[in-house]
Amino acid sequence: MAKADFYETLGVSRTADEKELKSAFRKLAMKLHPDKNPGDAEAEKKFKEINEAYETLKDPQKRAAYDRFGHAAFEQGGMGGGGGGFQSGGFSDIFEDIFGEMMGGRGGGRQRSTGGRERGADLRYNMEITLEEAFTGKTAQIRVPTSITCDLCTGTGAKPGTKPTTCATCQGSGRVRAAQGFFSIERTCPTCHGRGQTIADPCTKCHGHGRVTEERSLSVSIPSGIEDGTRIRLQGEGEAGLRGGPAGDLYIFLSVKPHEFFQRDGADLYCSVPISMTTAALGGTFDVVTLDGTKSRVSVPEGTQPGKQFRLKNKGMPVLRSAQTGDLYIQIQIETPQKLTKRQRELLQEFEQLSSKENNPQSTGFFARMKDFFDTLSD
Ligand SMILES: [Zn+2]
Ligand SMILES: [Zn+2]
Repeated sequence: MAKADFYETLGVSRTADEKELKSAFRKLAMKLHPDKNPGDAEAEKKFKEINEAYETLKDPQKRAAYDRFGHAAFEQGGMGGGGGGFQSGGFSDIFEDIFGEMMGGRGGGRQRSTGGRERGADLRYNMEITLEEAFTGKTAQIRVPTSITCDLCTGTGAKPGTKPTTCATCQGSGRVRAAQGFFSIERTCPTCHGRGQTIADPCTKCHGHGRVTEERSLSVSIPSGIEDGTRIRLQGEGEAGLRGGPAGDLYIFLSVKPHEFFQRDGADLYCSVPISMTTAALGGTFDVVTLDGTKSRVSVPEGTQPGKQFRLKNKGMPVLRSAQTGDLYIQIQIETPQKLTKRQRELLQEFEQLSSKENNPQSTGFFARMKDFFDTLSD
């Protein structure tokens, strides 16, 4: 059976540039990858074909040869030698690119093993503070269990006086290449697990890991005005790197506990205050304690309605890294009296008899408008 045309295999024109080739290959590779099509021999065959086509066309020399001679260019070991397979330097790169992305990506920072050095893991610490603490700011002492570089072997993992030796399996690269059909895949070296080195005589303290787990005490400064959900990054305070690699970071995930009286919206605070029906009707004053520990007096004018809002300027939360302060809004709720005595009932009934439209313009107006509305419906 004649071999399919490489350009047709990838679904590109003969003039396709490098970018088009790569993008066409990626799309097909995602679709046809054996992991996505287990047991599908047809997909596997196509996957091999697109690999072969891409491998040839992405190399300008091979592409030129293919354009001139077609598949014949690569028969009898004409080009790459090695029985027509391609021991490419480039293939595993794109393979990693694609499948790195599929696994959720590493933000472009592909981690190559450089003599086994590896960045330490980032750590997450959840911290809950009160609204008062968010108001004033605080210095918190936290204890973080973390791996740190072993001081006995200074992180090499080898017994003091001995040295790790270069891994014989991977010659120190930490990766091994395995041929699989037409293409080859790089894997972490099974002997040294990617370190590139093996340790004959492990350190007695860390047993060859180069790290030991310890609980560290850290003091974290929480600035005043910090918001719920803030992440604080402490660079280099995460896990120690492996064999001399840089340390990871520590992230403090901050949450602010709900407060009994105050709700927060940015720098502003809201406080709902219930007052009696008589205070609302006659007017009066009450005190609120604010987060700075002072009292503020609120005057309620006579005839105050529910939902009325009073603003106490600069009595809210401090704005992070600024001299500004938000406001405190007092929202009035009016409590209707319950469990009336006989005498109270009489007084209210008398009050009701003496009431006029002017006393309750809203309710009077509302029911009048409601009646009009029903009249128009029944017309
Ligand atoms: Zn050690
Ligand atoms: Zn190795």
